[in-house]
Amino acid sequence: MNILIVDNNHASRQQTVSHIQQTGHHTLEARSAEHALTSLSRHQIDMLVLDSSLPGICALDLIRTVRAQFQNWFPILLLSELDHHDYLAEGIHAGADDYLLKPLSEPLLNAKLSALGRINQMKQALDAANRKLREQSTQDSLTGLNNRRWLDHCLQKEWSRHRRENSELAILMIDIDYFKAYNDSYGHPQGDHCLRQVSAQLNKCLKRSHDQLARYGGEEFIAVLPQTSLEGAHIIAQQMLTAIRTAEIPHCSSDINACVTVSIGISTTRLSASQSTELIEQADQALYQAKHSGRDQATGYGEITTLINSASSRPSPAA
Ligand code: GH3
Ligand code: MG
Ligand code: MG
Repeated sequence: MNILIVDNNHASRQQTVSHIQQTGHHTLEARSAEHALTSLSRHQIDMLVLDSSLPGICALDLIRTVRAQFQNWFPILLLSELDHHDYLAEGIHAGADDYLLKPLSEPLLNAKLSALGRINQMKQALDAANRKLREQSTQDSLTGLNNRRWLDHCLQKEWSRHRRENSELAILMIDIDYFKAYNDSYGHPQGDHCLRQVSAQLNKCLKRSHDQLARYGGEEFIAVLPQTSLEGAHIIAQQMLTAIRTAEIPHCSSDINACVTVSIGISTTRLSASQSTELIEQADQALYQAKHSGRDQATGYGEITTLINSASSRPSPAA
């Protein structure tokens, strides 16, 4: 463990340091509360051993400050010359995990270091397990992309930002063409491999740190592009179409190409969506249009309707 020893008295600090080093732990030293706080913010500290008599600050206040400032928990062992129960109890209420009276008893110090070390190890294992759980609950296990649950959360967040900042938000819905036929021809495991290849190609097309890609379901993906206009979204969509084409993943049963292709539906907040789910619905309708118009292409929501409307409002040649 990395153990920080805080004691303004040089001789007593050196004695504590030497005891602790004999148990095989690495030590860092601080002479004052300020020094201790700096050290805690600069180094990875696994345990704090704090002498109760510090100049200019009550040690219990330092413990409270440490607990308030540092979210990551580590054990704090309070060292005191006074066997004053009220004070020691207050120290534990303030955030210390145990205490030890001075002069130090080596066997007791060793025992407390190992007990607090055990708790620290359990805490670290718990933190790692929680991190993994969080990751698994928001990640698609096949492609490693963000999953649908994460997408819902991300979209809510970006929708609020778009409302707050009045910035344009674009969505791309991307769907692999003739993927059922792909599975039928090459088998499901190869289909899974293809999904991973397509995910990687799509991901490469997102260059801005706040652009995000998620697997929406089956062979469908959604890219969330904050602060992006319809024109900008079209550019990304074209890059995705090209990236998938040039990856040249063979597809012997596609009706339109010898290789895998995708179709893309685009929607943006410019086109009157009143909530984030509507943005998804509009992208889905645009995707349907892209499929209908021959696949391997991108269509923006409203573009086809606009074309049809403008064609029908034009005077007919016979008139
Ligand atoms: P279209 O061009 O109109 O999109 O046709 P399509 O065949 O791609 O669409 P359809 O919705 O008919 O088929 C989607 C296929 O995606 C069917 C399903 O077996 C396959 N699929 C969905 N999830 C997975 C998966 O995790 N792995 C594999 N290998 N296939 C999947
Ligand atoms: Mg589909
Ligand atoms: Mg498909």
